[in-house]
Amino acid sequence: MKRYSAFAIAREALRHHTGWQRAWRSAQPKKAYDVIIVGAGGHGLATAYYLGKNHGIRNVAIIEKGWLGGGNTGRNTTIIRSNYLQDESAAIYEKARSLYETLSQDLNYNIMFSPRGVLMLAQTEHEIRGYRRTEHANRLQGVETRFISPAEVKKIVPIIELSGPRYPVLGALWQPRGGTARHDAVAWGYARACSDMGMDIIQQCEVTGISQKNGVVSGVSTTKGDIACNKLGLVVAGHSGVLADMAGFRLPIESVALQALVSEPIKPCMDVVVMANTVHGYMSQSDKGEMVIGGGADGFNNYTQRGSFHHIEETVRALIETFPMISRLKMLRQWGGIVDMTGDRSPIIGKTPLNNCFINCGWGTGGFKAIPGSGWSMAATMATGEPDSLAAGFGLERFREGRFIDESVAAGVAH
Ligand SMILES: Cc1cc2nc3c(=O)[nH]c(=O)nc-3n(C[C@H](O)[C@H](O)[C@H](O)COP(=O)(O)OP(=O)(O)OC[C@H]3O[C@@H](n4cnc5c(N)ncnc54)[C@H](O)[C@@H]3O)c2cc1C
Repeated sequence: MKRYSAFAIAREALRHHTGWQRAWRSAQPKKAYDVIIVGAGGHGLATAYYLGKNHGIRNVAIIEKGWLGGGNTGRNTTIIRSNYLQDESAAIYEKARSLYETLSQDLNYNIMFSPRGVLMLAQTEHEIRGYRRTEHANRLQGVETRFISPAEVKKIVPIIELSGPRYPVLGALWQPRGGTARHDAVAWGYARACSDMGMDIIQQCEVTGISQKNGVVSGVSTTKGDIACNKLGLVVAGHSGVLADMAGFRLPIESVALQALVSEPIKPCMDVVVMANTVHGYMSQSDKGEMVIGGGADGFNNYTQRGSFHHIEETVRALIETFPMISRLKMLRQWGGIVDMTGDRSPIIGKTPLNNCFINCGWGTGGFKAIPGSGWSMAATMATGEPDSLAAGFGLERFREGRFIDESVAAGVAH
């Protein structure tokens, strides 16, 4: 792989950009692999990358039914934070956030990580108490957050209206090293690095069946033929229930559409991410100038990847009291992704009832921020056959044993 650098840009500018290589090879399936990962979203690609980088396992195929990064990874609103309440969550999300800090250098691919800061507004007395509790928990967990006053909020976000008639801003939980990254670039950067390690990324290839011998996984059936493997990782977000069914077990997952929209581009007016959980809306400004706006998940199970009119209205109406300026913006486009929700709003990482078949899912409305940490932990779990310390609490068995990792507050708004 030719490395990207300022020198390479100058060199290519002089020769009319004729020397760039393809970022990843277009691969056709071999008969067998040591490891197959189903799903070339961020979590699947990151799992493959750390299998190669941390564990030296490189005979790996990543199988994708569409195009890589075309699922939720390319559809999210890119918020990165780690201010969760429970210790298990703070550990894996903070691991991910800290890996994001240097991911561009690690992958030699600019993922445009922007630690611009994330504000979670407190707009009821109940939220003040909740966020103060999270602030204390984060301090013990080593996650840098601070509860700040309305005046400090106004200083950070001058366009905000503090004294809305229904939900005035009473303070906020502030994570200064939270922020955003370019979602496609995260998928593309991992894909390029995986391909460079000799892994096969097989796109337009749907997994249609999972085969087993004596209770141990032996391979997958796909639209491009049967492929054998020693270990299988299912990393398919909203389709996890479908793949689990093929492997012969059930998951406590519901699939629902989550929507977002962007406005027309405007001049820079907000350089942080603001989330308003009480009214269910959040907003940031993209590098192109669009206001990126997200709301809640659909109230019913479905597999659509579209937006719907009532969601635009609900989400914009929710935010207008706090950001009156958006009433004068034209909305440019909207879309949806299929998110995989667990009852305790925490992910599932670990072993499954089928031996050598592992699962990583349940990131629901907030898994973009977790991609590097999740891939790191899933790779360790698959390489050793046992959950690593980050994944230990997130096994499927917690639903049978009643050991929930309840993040319904931290994950209460969709991001
Ligand atoms: C509108 C929206 C906004 C969001 N905002 C945020 C945010 O701001 N911050 C945040 O942290 N998270 C956010 N999220 C959540 C985040 O996008 C997801 O949790 C994360 O991207 C999941 O990544 P993944 O790799 O698990 O799944 P995906 O990216 O969905 O990848 C799974 C892949 O599996 C493939 N697949 C499925 N079935 C098969 C099959 N049978 N064979 C082969 N391949 C298959 C799919 O085609 C897909 O490409 C948002 C999500 C949405 C929809």
